Amino acid sequence: MSRLVLKSPAEIEIMHEANSILRNTLAELRGLIRPGMTTMEIDQLAEKRIRDAGGVPAFKGYPHRNDGHDFPGTACVSLNEEVVHGIPSDGVALKDGDIISVDMGIRYKGYYGDSAETYPVGTISDEAQRLLRVTRNSLVAGVEQAREGNRVSDIGHAVQQHVESNGFAVVREFVGHGIGANLHEDPQVPNFGEPGRRERLAPGIVLAIEPMVTAGSPEVAVSASDGWTARTRDGSLSAHYECCVAVTDDGPRVLGETDGLHW
Ligand code: MG
Ligand code: MG
Repeated sequence: MSRLVLKSPAEIEIMHEANSILRNTLAELRGLIRPGMTTMEIDQLAEKRIRDAGGVPAFKGYPHRNDGHDFPGTACVSLNEEVVHGIPSDGVALKDGDIISVDMGIRYKGYYGDSAETYPVGTISDEAQRLLRVTRNSLVAGVEQAREGNRVSDIGHAVQQHVESNGFAVVREFVGHGIGANLHEDPQVPNFGEPGRRERLAPGIVLAIEPMVTAGSPEVAVSASDGWTARTRDGSLSAHYECCVAVTDDGPRVLGETDGLHW
């Protein structure tokens, strides 16, 4: 039985501030990412922005689930067929035509934020552009379901429907999550499933919704060499978008954004 921790309006304001730091950094990266930039440069910018704002990178030192080495970066940087949890590197430079997913977490005034976006590098294929747009819009569709009286599975159902009706697939192995004074709280928020199942949503619930979408098969495998990087098994492209949303009396509130869903 999962335990949902409701957040007060004051706690939600702090989480809004935390997520603002991340979303401003993601927006800044939109203007900076170009061929030749290394994934370590992305990581260093993320760490500087988080620390300058008074936060602490939440992923740095995150323990490996099987006693491997802790995550070394501030950002997860996942290139092309990498789905999530790619490790920043001085030795990996972005190339024209790549797509790069950047996921970052912050601890700020005792609360967490978690947010991700996938960027085009230079000029990308029509298929890759469509993958990015569909993944982003599947997140919007999921956020729309984060309403009082709905169930958690209504979110994943909306994500899956949007993705599959556009010919892409959702990853099953990784899911969204509750967030608050912990980075990962109940409930789990899968990006698939039947509607009307699982926990009922109420004001004060805050969720990190994070569709991971592939252009081919949804099967993923975690790198045996670094223990972190998850890739599509068939080598197809993958995109990942994430935001934190609070269920409020006035509907879904995307934390860290001032204009709701229109980002
Ligand atoms: Mg994340
Ligand atoms: Mg997350």
